[in-house]
Amino acid sequence: MTPTPYGDGTRVLLAGQPAAVAGEPFLPGPVFAAPYHLGPDATGTRYYARNDNPTWSAYEAALEALEGGPAVVFPSGMAAVSAVLWSVLRPGDRVVVPSDGYYQVRSTLAADLPWLEVTEVPTPEITALARAGDLPPAALVLLESPSNPRLDVCDLAVVSAAVHAAGGLVAVDNTLATPLAQRPLDFGVDFSVASDTKAMSGHSDLLLGHVACREATMADRLRGFRTRSGVVPGPFEVWLAHRSLGTLDVRLRRQADNAAALVERLRGHRAVSSLRYPWLAGDPSYDLAARQMLRPVGVISFELADADAVARLLAASRLLAAATSFGGLHTTVDRRAQFGDRVPPGFVRVSCGCEDAVDLVADLGAALDSVAVVG
Ligand SMILES: *Cc1c(COP(=O)(O)O)cnc(C)c1O
Repeated sequence: MTPTPYGDGTRVLLAGQPAAVAGEPFLPGPVFAAPYHLGPDATGTRYYARNDNPTWSAYEAALEALEGGPAVVFPSGMAAVSAVLWSVLRPGDRVVVPSDGYYQVRSTLAADLPWLEVTEVPTPEITALARAGDLPPAALVLLESPSNPRLDVCDLAVVSAAVHAAGGLVAVDNTLATPLAQRPLDFGVDFSVASDTKAMSGHSDLLLGHVACREATMADRLRGFRTRSGVVPGPFEVWLAHRSLGTLDVRLRRQADNAAALVERLRGHRAVSSLRYPWLAGDPSYDLAARQMLRPVGVISFELADADAVARLLAASRLLAAATSFGGLHTTVDRRAQFGDRVPPGFVRVSCGCEDAVDLVADLGAALDSVAVVG
């Protein structure tokens, strides 16, 4: 891997941008098309927009520059995960998934892919199992690292080596990190999968996803699946995501700074337990995150006493928005048990936004104090 000459702020600005041409825009607008004009016949020309679209290609070039492998864009994070499942697995194959990962992955395996053997493993146990050679042999091992919502980290190199030795492939859901904070392909992972609905696009205004691949043949396979299945993104969403990518470095930096400030306020607060932030010394993810990840991001989790305490926190706050999803401009609080995550009722994931830290700390601090008084 040749070191990139530029910093993250420069890299996201340049990613997938065309060469400067006088009189042309920096980022050409979305191309809206169904069929394209044909030449004398269909050979060698773009002919139908389910196959390809120049707006997709520009964003995919940006993703490839950031991920370090060819990328394929999908209409949502779940579409990206599904594309990997449907492209890689055949009836009777075993797939290992995190028992504590994104819940819809388990749902779609149960409801839509009943011919697969599914083994669930808790994220905190995956690295040790791989190291001991005790991971169940599988055609595909899907990791989430850091996991959502509990923020546990897997050793990607260790797991990749073990799975490859057993003849399987490895996919990592890299949504929480984004390729600025973690490049899974650098550790031998076959598929870096992400919901670009989250920090990648970052404005809470679209759904999108992508898969970056270690091998070009795998990207071709996913592209073929996209064309045949018709699971294709709209060009406007893809263009918005590409436009938003230019500020990814700035947004992540601000979100991580805000997370660090909130963690300071949350630590030791009497209403708060089980505070998790991988960049907090002493966190179970701290050592691995420090070794494997490139920078901190802005998502933290903790527990309040119960669902009612979370409701009181939100009622007492002016800046914390109750919303699912994460990685957006606004600081959001999500009580994950209501969406079926296997977590206690008072467990919340907080996604730090781009507000001023001083305002957030004052707002959350006052809201927490009121929860502690009433509770
Ligand atoms: C949100 C999310 C998904 C699903 O993405 P959508 O864009 O909502 O389909 C998958 N994995 C993780 C870790 C997520 O946070």
